[in-house]
Parts: sequence; C-alpha cells; structure tokens
Amino acid sequence: MATSDKTTTSFSAVPVRTFDRPRNTAGHLARVTEYFGTNVFDLKAMAKRLASQDVETLSRVMKFGGKIDASLAERIASAVKEWAIEKGATHYCHWFQPQTGTTAEKHDAFLWFDKQGNPIERFTGSELLQSEPDASSFPSGGLRATFEARGYTGWDPSSPMFIMESENGRTVYIPSVFISYHGEALDFKTPLLRSNEAFSREATKTLQLLGEKDIVAVTTTVGAEQEFFLVDSEKARLRPDLRLSGRSVLGRKPPKGQELEDHYFGHIPSRVQAFFNEFEVESYKLGIPVKTRHNEVAPGQFEIAPIFEGSNIASDHNQLVMKLLKSTAAKHGFMALLHEKPFAGVNGSGKHVNWSMSDSTGRNLLDPGHTPHENIVFLTFLCATLQGISDNADVLRASIATSGNDHRLGANEAPPAIISAFLGNTLDKILNALESGTTKNVPAERALIDLGVSQLQHVAKDNTDRNRTSPFAFTGNKFEFRAVGSSAPVNYPTAILNAAVTDGLSKLNAKLEARAKGGVVAPESILDVLKEIIVATKAIRFEGNGYSQEWRDEAARRGLSNFPNTPAALQVYADEKKTRFLRETKTLSAEDLQARLSIQQERYVKQRLIEVTCAIEMVQSSVLPASMRYLGELVSLSKDAQTLSITSPAQKMATDVGTLSNRVQTALTTLMTTYEKVTAGDALEHENVAKTAVAIAAQLLPKVEDMREAVDELEALVPTGKWPFPKYQDMLFGIE
Ligand code: ADP
Ligand code: MG
Repeated sequence: MATSDKTTTSFSAVPVRTFDRPRNTAGHLARVTEYFGTNVFDLKAMAKRLASQDVETLSRVMKFGGKIDASLAERIASAVKEWAIEKGATHYCHWFQPQTGTTAEKHDAFLWFDKQGNPIERFTGSELLQSEPDASSFPSGGLRATFEARGYTGWDPSSPMFIMESENGRTVYIPSVFISYHGEALDFKTPLLRSNEAFSREATKTLQLLGEKDIVAVTTTVGAEQEFFLVDSEKARLRPDLRLSGRSVLGRKPPKGQELEDHYFGHIPSRVQAFFNEFEVESYKLGIPVKTRHNEVAPGQFEIAPIFEGSNIASDHNQLVMKLLKSTAAKHGFMALLHEKPFAGVNGSGKHVNWSMSDSTGRNLLDPGHTPHENIVFLTFLCATLQGISDNADVLRASIATSGNDHRLGANEAPPAIISAFLGNTLDKILNALESGTTKNVPAERALIDLGVSQLQHVAKDNTDRNRTSPFAFTGNKFEFRAVGSSAPVNYPTAILNAAVTDGLSKLNAKLEARAKGGVVAPESILDVLKEIIVATKAIRFEGNGYSQEWRDEAARRGLSNFPNTPAALQVYADEKKTRFLRETKTLSAEDLQARLSIQQERYVKQRLIEVTCAIEMVQSSVLPASMRYLGELVSLSKDAQTLSITSPAQKMATDVGTLSNRVQTALTTLMTTYEKVTAGDALEHENVAKTAVAIAAQLLPKVEDMREAVDELEALVPTGKWPFPKYQDMLFGIE
C-alpha cells in the first residue's frame, strides 16, 4: 500500500514508485564513488580534454578567484562541448539566480552552420563567458530603468559546470552571475562572490598579523541543512493555496500533531525511502555531497544535509537540492513543500546554514586547536565573528526577512527575530575570564592555559551542548545560522554574514596593526585586543532560552533590535550608517541596496497578496457555498423531522439538528463578518510599496487571521465528505 487514507475516502491512493540505486556494467549495485560527479565538468573531466597548464589555471581560479582570458575560455568551451556531447547534451545555458529566490536559465543549442552552410556543433569562448538574456522580466528594483541598463549573465568559473539530465534531454548548465550594464548585482550570487573576496583579504591579513605569513587566502565554508514537507500530490493539488503559495492559508490543526514526538528520527516510510534514493542518486551525479537524511519533528516533515563545501558551491548546490527535492517528489506522487510554514500550528521548516572559514592550508579557523598558538588563532577569529555579528545584526536580520520566515521567527519553534550568539558553557567561561583580566601580567601562553583553554578541544568534540533557540549558535567548530528560511537561497544570507564578519575582521585588524612590531603582534597584545572585543560585544551573547519572554525583555534592556516582521526588518537597507559595511566590503553598492529594498518590499507585498487573494477565493468559491449548502440541509432536515412525526425520538432529533444548525449558522455569520472586513481592501491604498507592506502586516493580516479562524471553526462542523479541501490530517499523516 502506498498511502493509507483512513480519514477520507475521496482521494485515491498513489502507487509506490520503487527506485533502487544504479547498477554497474557487472550488474552489481554500483558504489556511490562510481557515479558521484559523473555529470560535473570537474578536474577529472577537464584533465582528459585540456592541457595540464590550463587545468592548473582553472583550478587556481576556482580556489582563489581570478580572471580567465579569452583564449583559455575558447579552449575550455571547446572541451566542455566535446564532453557534453559525448554525454548526450544538445544545449547549454547560463544558469543564474535572479532575486526571485529561484534560478533562471535560457537554453541554446550547440547547433551552428559552417561557411558552406553545413550544420555543425559550436560553443565558443565568448558564449561561455557572457550572455545577454532578455532580462526585462526579472526584478531589478529600477536598476534597468534606463535604456542602456541591460542585464548580463557572466560565467562564474569558481563553480563547476554540470549537465542537468532528465528522461527528456540533457543540457549543460553554466553557473553565472547576473549583473546590470553598470555592474550592479541583479542576483543573489554576485554579492556572495564579492563578500568572499573581501573576507579572504581581511582574514589573510589577520593571519599574517598573527605571524602566519604563508597563508594566501581564506574561504568561507557552508553546509546547509534543508527541511521540507512531503504531501501526497493527489491531495495537495486539490488545495489552491498549496499550489499557488506553497502554504495552506486555511486549515484546522489536526487532533494529533507532533506532541507524541513520534516522527523525529523515526523510521523512514518506504515510499519516502524510494524518493530519497532517487533524490540522492540525482544529487550524486551532480556532485552534491548529500550525507544525512531523516524524519523531522513535524508529521510529514523531513530533512537532508550535505557535507559542507566552499560557500559559493554550497549555495549553488542548495539551489539544485531545492529543485531536485521538488522534481523528485513529483515523480513519487508527492508535492515537496519548502515553504517556511506550510501548516499553521505545526512546526515550520528552516535552513540551518552551518558556517565556518577555512584557510589556504585547509585548516578550519573556528576549530579550537591543540596548542596555545592555535587557540589564539581560534579565539581571534571567534572574537572577530562576534564583533561582526554585534555591529551588523540589523542587516543580518534583514537578510533572512521574507514573508514565509515571518511565520517562523519568534514563534517558539524557531530562533527569535532578535540576533544573538550562543557560545556554549566552556567558551562562554573562557571569554568571561579573558574579560575579567585573569590574564593580566601573565605571559599569553601561560594565560591561555590558566583560562582552561586546554578544554577547547572538548568544545570541538563534544557537540551535545546545543541551543536550538539561538539564531547563531556555535557548535564546536562552526557557527550554525539557524534563522534562515527553508526556501531561501543560501547565498544571500551567507553574503551578508561574510560581509559582517569581514567588517569585524577589519576592525580587529586595525587594532592589531596599531600594536604590531615588524608586522606581527605579540600574543599578550592579541589578548588585550580580544578583551576589548569581548567587552564591546557582550550584549549579543546569550546562553539561555531564546524562546522565552524573559529574553525578549532582557534583549530590549540590552538595546538589541527585535524586528517582528519583514517590512520592519527591511527598513535598515535605507540606513546609511548601518549598511556602510556592505559598501566597504563591496558586497553591495548604494544602488544595489536601494534596489534590493524595493525588490524585497515588493516581493513581500506580492506574496502576501497572493496568499490573501487565495484565501478569499477559497472562502467565497468553496467554503461559503459548502457551508451554506450544509446549513440548508440541516434546516430542511430539522423541518422534516418536525413535520413528519410527533414521536419523541424525532422531536429529539429535530432539537439536535436545530442545535447543530445554530452552531453552523453562528460560525457562518462570524465567517461572513470577517470575510467582509478582509475584502474591504482599505489597507492597500498607499502611495508607495513600503507603506503598503507595513499596512499589510499591521492591518490586513490580522483580519485574514480572524477569517481563517472562522473557517477553521466551520471545518470542524461541516462533515468531512462535504468539506471542499483535504484536511491537515489527510495531508500530514498516512504516508507509509
Ligand atoms: P551536527 O549534527 O553536530 O550539527 P554535523 O557534522 O552533522 O554536525 O554537521 C551539520 C552540518 O554542518 C553538515 O552539513 C556539515 O557538513 C556542516 N559542517 C560541518 N563542519 C562544517 C564547517 N567547518 N563549515 C561549514 N559547515 C560545516
Ligand atoms: Mg535540523
């Protein structure tokens, strides 16, 4: 049996699609290593078709950035073309990430004609490097308002090309940036690349000041855990809200939710297992190192997590993961919901962005080391991170602000909207000791040992000291940015995080430079600087329960911001002072910021209006007619019972039916009242998008909530067979 449909009979069961791992030529189940990365133009594929010097140049650019000249681009294009055609590809596309949250692609065939008019396959260096899509339909926030302001896509050589394969064709995807004629970022990838460059520069400088002269670059690393729901597509497609907005705008909470805690880490249903198998095989072929899979807290909720990678590739991979989750789900009769809050009253989904930094020797700089020097390096980068988060918390908050995430943040199941950092007991104590000056007049090496820094190794190993209520939690050798929404592209919050920490590093570097002798700072002076930072950033450190009201009060006393929703959070983009670090790190220009503000406000308004319109239409075209019809039936049933017989059971029934019809009548009246308030539309007449966004959040949404409450009340009264939509319990349970 694929699904059991115990509560309703009106939905047909979906057959199980089995999916096993691929077999090799010998007929055995292939090892993952036999097909991992087979659709990626990686170093191995390059080495077969390019001179070793070219491979070296390209791999250097992939690691450390840099330019690819026209003649090398020509040779790479030709190699990719041969590789791709051998694998059956017919087309190529620049694959980019406009500010819609999804990805975009326009395919071109390899087809061309030679001088004699014979058809040939062609792919040139300039086609690889740049393309000019008709960009007028992508959000630009006014950046393309003038006639010369066209949009360009440009190859990002730091993320490998790959072949996207389906039963119906194969296409080469070229990861690309999307920029305007004047170089403003029109996408989510460009800010990440820029922030990485700035980050590398400052972090390398820090290491040099600490005496590590042979480090040439530092990259940020990301491992993005992805949560999502799977719902039977048979049921999901009967819900316009799920189809159009990814979220149910009506629906009563089922009698059973996650309270029995029987889903988290539970046995993976066989039908979901088949889905995971296929998803993983497709991911592996694309070189996505998917590692973990498990049931999440809510019924119908699951999670996958990859092995971490450099932040740019990890972000591209997360986009592909989101796409593959959806397309693979569809093949298995599911709809994958990546929305932050598909079901009210049930846990929502996040994306935990695990974040760290790795230097050119491959060392994780947030990994406490074995020696006092290693621990100084660790503490230095930890403090710079705190400085960056502390000074730029508001922009960080804005980077995760979306209408979907508004349902999660601060809702006692996800981190609060207040940005704070959790360090764990040991580290917290060490920073407190450093602050209180335990180290005064003690040689630094000795001081670190006195502080118990030898315990730091335990911090790295023992990850049990978890705090799920913190938006930014240290987990042994990395931070976990837990407040990111499940549907968000990772690259944008990562870019802002990188830029924030770059800012922290540059402030730290200025202090270190002032104390440097011969370009290097003595350990005692480093500890002095760290102490200053620890004092200055104390307010954002919080070890307690982030869900509690006490924390909200305490955070207010500490002067930390708490922006409850997207329109409020986005305002910071207009603040020159608070966004200075974005310009200084060249992550976003003033024009970029202005554009992003209006794009994100507009997106908020549009998404909300889609949801609200959806709710209104579901109410007027389905809920009201169904409920009224039922009320009519009750009324005539009660009349019949009164007229047909005078026996006492019939009279009793007439009374009961009367009571029931009164309850339905009352609920319907409430619904009509709330419905009329929602459809009055007075919240939306504002001269600009910023004000509209604020009005939607403050005035319209509470009315929509009231309407929903009335609908959900009716849902409990109207018989299941007469209710026009699949109920929560039908959608959240029954996958086996
Ligand atoms: P835990 O379950 O303790 O959080 P895991 O090792 O399972 O730790 O990691 C969770 C996620 O964090 C995974 O995606 C993992 O790849 C990622 N991760 C681990 N180390 C790093 C790192 N140095 N930088 C970025 N992400 C990391
Ligand atoms: Mg998780």
